[in-house]
Amino acid sequence: MRVFKFGGASVKDADGVKNLLQIVRQATDELVVVVSAMGKTTNALESIVEAIVQGDQLAVDSQWKQLLAYHEQIASALDVNIREAISDEVLGCVLAHRNAKNASYDDLYDTIVSVGELMSTAIVAAYLNQQGIRSQLWNMPELLITDGSFREAMVNMPASAQKVQRAWHDPYRPKVVVAQGFIGGTDSGHRTTLGREGSDYTAALIANFLDAESVTIWKDVPGILNADPRLEPNTELIPELNYFEAVELAYSGAQVIHPKTIRPLENKQIPLYVRPFAHPEQSGTIIKSAPTEPVHVPVFIWRKEQVLITMRAKDFSFVLEDSLTHIFDVIQRCKLKVSLIQSSAVTISVCVDNSRSLPKALQMLGEHYAVTYNEHLSLLTIRGTTPELLESVQQERTILLSQLTRRTAKFVIAN
Ligand code: ASP
Ligand code: MG
Repeated sequence: MRVFKFGGASVKDADGVKNLLQIVRQATDELVVVVSAMGKTTNALESIVEAIVQGDQLAVDSQWKQLLAYHEQIASALDVNIREAISDEVLGCVLAHRNAKNASYDDLYDTIVSVGELMSTAIVAAYLNQQGIRSQLWNMPELLITDGSFREAMVNMPASAQKVQRAWHDPYRPKVVVAQGFIGGTDSGHRTTLGREGSDYTAALIANFLDAESVTIWKDVPGILNADPRLEPNTELIPELNYFEAVELAYSGAQVIHPKTIRPLENKQIPLYVRPFAHPEQSGTIIKSAPTEPVHVPVFIWRKEQVLITMRAKDFSFVLEDSLTHIFDVIQRCKLKVSLIQSSAVTISVCVDNSRSLPKALQMLGEHYAVTYNEHLSLLTIRGTTPELLESVQQERTILLSQLTRRTAKFVIAN
């Protein structure tokens, strides 16, 4: 069996879903089709959660109305009846929580944001069935069992493997299964999410549990490129990467795959293909254990909206020895994503993605250290760098911090 993953951009309109149908039709193997929320739905749902906690019910109502209309319009262009395809619980979820102003943000977030994937998969599965491809819709909150760390839930691998395998070995299962990416559920039935862009990770987990032959991520780019085509005019396709390089790229901020995706695949030596959904005949990029050719071009990865936090011990004690555990405990509790770490005798600097919990983290750190920080920075990572490249990159840029290893250069940039 194989696993296909379609991200939000590939199902952002009815034509996208029709294209998905063509790709699924051409596959001869048994398939699990993992689907993200349509287009920018996850962002829209995040904004609805924000409106709920602000107590702005008018905004909740109007934003939800708009989001529902977007889905209704896609469904109707596909001849799918949205009220038959999607359960009342899912369709009514946002309005049922519209005055949950005092609910815990993270818990509310997962309940509501997961609605995006529940809607997209219901529409896709209904459409495939209507088009003669018999498919079963899996409800991942019942199959992918996680802990209750909302917004960044940890997957219980053995429990989830058992549930997914049981569902797969159902004798009545058709050849095609449709499953939500990004969402899971706790033992006690709470919906959870795995972290933004987590659908790739879901695809990798299902592949791991079912010993898939391969995973294919269908994307709106030709494969993994050596730079972001929106920022660089001349980009090159990287035809092959090993798992290690793929993790490095993903962690550095390459938006093509979620960093957690690689491990479940590497563990079972399952290859990952990144291919363009608009040109299914092209081979894209393959990630596997031993590529035949090393990457021959420098790779540029930008990670935006970074915050550089520097902590200095108030009493000149050595920050490293005394405080690492404490600092990282705060970072973990506030769910900050660290992109770079640097230390000196009495300071430690961490670069993190900006997030809603940043002010809280700064306050907690400020109780123990003299804390300074800069916002709106970018982190540029160059893999396979050369002295000439290093020089040109540093021209006309305000570089706050740099880190060099033999093959990789990282710059925290202020402009
Ligand atoms: N829909 C989720 C997001 O946009 C998950 C994903 O797309 O992978 O973050
Ligand atoms: Mg998405």
